[in-house]
Amino acid sequence: MLAERAYAKINLTLNVLGKRPDGYHDVEMVMQTIDLSDLIWLEEKSGQDVEIESSASNIPLDSRNLAVAAAQAFKEYTGLNKGLHIRIDKQIPVAAGLGGGSSDAAAVLRGLNRLWQTGLSLDQLAEVGASIGSDVPFCVYGGCAIARGRGEKIASVSHSLKAWTVLIRPSVYVSTADVYSSLSADDYDGRFETDRATNQMVKALIQKDFEGVRQGVVNRLAPTTLKLYPVVSSLQQRVEHIARAPVFMSGSGPTLFCLVPSRFAAQRIYNSLRGFSREVYLSRFV
Ligand code: ATP
Repeated sequence: MLAERAYAKINLTLNVLGKRPDGYHDVEMVMQTIDLSDLIWLEEKSGQDVEIESSASNIPLDSRNLAVAAAQAFKEYTGLNKGLHIRIDKQIPVAAGLGGGSSDAAAVLRGLNRLWQTGLSLDQLAEVGASIGSDVPFCVYGGCAIARGRGEKIASVSHSLKAWTVLIRPSVYVSTADVYSSLSADDYDGRFETDRATNQMVKALIQKDFEGVRQGVVNRLAPTTLKLYPVVSSLQQRVEHIARAPVFMSGSGPTLFCLVPSRFAAQRIYNSLRGFSREVYLSRFV
């Protein structure tokens, strides 16, 4: 039996270039791993089935679970048809824009590569991951990266900026598909604006310019999510007032986050937000 950590991500940038013939959108995102994580336990068992259990009651416990899909894709890719038991100790809020399912899938791929000593490279694991979901390849590598295409083409960004984030999850279910299908041409960016957003963010990260990072955050899905779900919009305004800091949204939402340059300042914001929501998390860049 072994354990593998599955880290959440936040979007520092998210630009949408347009709709593709296959129905997906072309995006460009700077994504950052944070230390909010699920723990995935993997144990070989007799037979050929993949079983799953979880501490969370709000995720599917069958082949719709991305962790199971990852195990099946891994078995197919390697030709190892062994039995497996997966346990997910869930900490990452579900359907929150934090990539929890994708990260669980990526952790299963990395974990099985160790458990069954298959010696696949991260690039190979990312290739298997791309068949499961667009965010899985990023989660295979972790850290910070630019994701392009549907999100599956990854270019790593190496930086050592220390930053903290306070996250708050509004209690509303947001459908990623609804958000994308409600985008209008105004929400699309040209190559020029997209390059500018990405380059500014990457430069600020590498130069450890915290203010530059905070000023460079963009999420071109946010106006649509905020319009579709007014409760997220009113929560954002209240959190901005309490935190006295800009409040951003991750992915298609609804999770909101502040970026903070010190643990002390993050703790202050965390304490004041705990007063009116149970779903508040303090974490830092990994
Ligand atoms: P993303 O940011 O990649 O769009 P998300 O954070 O918005 O992801 P997830 O937490 O990955 O969303 O959950 C999205 C849906 O995937 C949920 O409705 C859930 O039923 C399903 N799902 C499948 N497997 C998992 C898993 N292991 N953990 C969480 N959700 C899962």
